[in-house]
Amino acid sequence: MFGSVLIANRGEIACRIARTAKRMGMRTIAVYSAADVRALHVRSCDEAYLLGPAEPRESYLSIGRIIEAAKLAHAECVHPGYGFLAENAEFAEACAQAGLVFVGPSPQAIRAMGLKDRAKSLMEQAGVPIVPGYHGERQEPKFLKEKAYEIGYPVLIKPAAGGGGRGLRRVDRHAEFDAAFESAVRECAAAFGSSRVLIEKCIASPRHVEFQVFADSRGNAIHLGERDCSLQRRHQKVIEEAPAPGMSAELRAQMGAAAVAAAKAVAYAGAGTVEFIADGSKGLRPDGFWFIEMNTRLQVEHPVTEAVTGLDLVEWQFRVAAGEKLPLAQGQIRFDGHAIEARVYAEDPANDFLPSTGTIVALRLPPDIRVDSGVDAGGEVTPYYDAMIAKLIAHAATREATLDRLTDALDRTLIVGPRSNVALLAALCRREDFRRGQIDTEFIDRSLVLLGAVGQGPDRAAAAFGVERLLAASSFDEAPDDDNVEPSSPWAARDGFQLGPARTIDLPIVIDGEGAEAKVTYGKAGPNVLIDGTPPVPDAEAFAAGDEVFVLRHGRQTRVRIADFAEASTTADGSDGIVKAPMHGKVLELFVHVGDSVAGGQRLTVIEAMKMEHTLSAPFAGVVRQIAVAAGAQVMEGAAIMVIDPAGKR
Ligand code: ADP
Ligand code: ADP
Ligand code: MG
Repeated sequence: MFGSVLIANRGEIACRIARTAKRMGMRTIAVYSAADVRALHVRSCDEAYLLGPAEPRESYLSIGRIIEAAKLAHAECVHPGYGFLAENAEFAEACAQAGLVFVGPSPQAIRAMGLKDRAKSLMEQAGVPIVPGYHGERQEPKFLKEKAYEIGYPVLIKPAAGGGGRGLRRVDRHAEFDAAFESAVRECAAAFGSSRVLIEKCIASPRHVEFQVFADSRGNAIHLGERDCSLQRRHQKVIEEAPAPGMSAELRAQMGAAAVAAAKAVAYAGAGTVEFIADGSKGLRPDGFWFIEMNTRLQVEHPVTEAVTGLDLVEWQFRVAAGEKLPLAQGQIRFDGHAIEARVYAEDPANDFLPSTGTIVALRLPPDIRVDSGVDAGGEVTPYYDAMIAKLIAHAATREATLDRLTDALDRTLIVGPRSNVALLAALCRREDFRRGQIDTEFIDRSLVLLGAVGQGPDRAAAAFGVERLLAASSFDEAPDDDNVEPSSPWAARDGFQLGPARTIDLPIVIDGEGAEAKVTYGKAGPNVLIDGTPPVPDAEAFAAGDEVFVLRHGRQTRVRIADFAEASTTADGSDGIVKAPMHGKVLELFVHVGDSVAGGQRLTVIEAMKMEHTLSAPFAGVVRQIAVAAGAQVMEGAAIMVIDPAGKR
């Protein structure tokens, strides 16, 4: 076995790999970027090497720097985790050239499965059922449009080099093909450096059912059962479980055999996942599943397989990479109970799931179920990397009991600072249709209102609670006398301030970035706060951070502070014509120039954050007066990007 491993990743997966490597007696070597100096994964390893700046290209995606660090540290092997370089054949080659063992399949196997169109052709030859569609070489828009018509709408346009659900476009009508094609090509060229696409029949009531496969370098290959990952948001997995609801032992054997055949067709070694799409409209059936892709790495959701099989997949990866035989044969794999994983993201479900960055003010994770996390309190969610904070994995004898356990664990999870999807996950776990196993990949996107993931407006009662805390914590909880007031205090700027039993003042505040006003009445018992007539909630938790307070109530976070007078007059919603960045990110493209007339709603710029693109549009018709940034610039949340002047409108 290896004596040391360099973990070429960050976050929860780096921590998770380090755990097993340590148990196996290895010296663990972390790498990190300038944004991760104090990150948990750095502290979880025995040694750590700085790669470079925060930008992934100059750190976690820099093959040269990682190999250099591995040589300096005298690492024997390199584990790539998932994401970043995990499916990069050149990285696997560079490791081999440097005398390092890459913990993963051969560069040839990575390449064979790396492009979805080529992989489908290979699978077709190996007798694995594939989704009907066009996956040939031709890429002319007119030709592909004809193919889409022949396949029959709805179809999916898929980037051949894609991953993470990005760049997929569903097309429902022939007339919509051209526009969808154009935007798909644009997004996948930017994201994957290749604009090649394939066209696939869009399966109705789709369920995502994938098989964990494992192979060694001696030609043995087995499967470790399936995972149902149908609960997705915009084609990204959110909740995963094993076994799949409605799976029979016979169908498992049949689909498992297809998955093993897929692995054998590319002489696979190590951990891999063969993904199938199933037609869920009539339950899982032998003639209703089709190969979509193979991920040649450890998967985010591997812990549910570990829970039901009792195996450590990372240990198996190391064993196979060291040349050992698979520890167990197919007939020795046992499945025990049910496991469900929920991915906790720093994102705001009520604001179109925009990633939410910032310092984690407080963090409470349930101690009694498996939690794989990559951050701790005081840590930072930065705009540079994936916004996943933790994974909660529940395991129990039955699906019902597992769901109960996971729901309870989510209810006890508290993340303060960045917004999170915890309340949405808990709401999902309570949904009767999910509990009955009635799921498909559009379930979440269809149920956003029922899941509470729609802008509900500010929670005034929670904000009032927060303002009370702020006032109680500040020196203003007693009636201030005039020569004892801080210059920045709103109290200082108020005239007509009278001493007396019940005085009411209007206090400008900021709730979740939006200006508002609180009516504060000072009585003998202290400050009494009303916001639009709403009194404070009795039952919330407050966490102070700087001049702000975070109020947590039923999993929902409200952030309040007392406004500086200078800012009380500017609005945050663009109605003043200042178009601001909704989050930290990078300006990908500017569609307008200074002096251009724009229509209300017209596209102005595209900002990329957390690898997702967000289009900003004009709040109203007007003329572009000023542009503060150039394409390619990094912008902070709230930074002014441009000014639209309504007066200039023609
Ligand atoms: P998995 O099936 O393991 O979740 P996917 O194939 O969905 O992986 O995604 C591929 C990789 O993309 C993941 O390993 C992960 O690192 C990355 N990824 C997943 N979700 C996101 C996201 N929301 N934004 C950016 N990258 C992501
Ligand atoms: P990625 O590499 O981005 O993970 P996949 O091919 O695995 O791309 O597809 C991602 C998701 O898109 C699937 O999990 C599923 O929800 C949906 N999807 C993919 N192919 C189809 C299809 N043919 N019909 C319906 N949904 C699909
Ligand atoms: Mg996939």
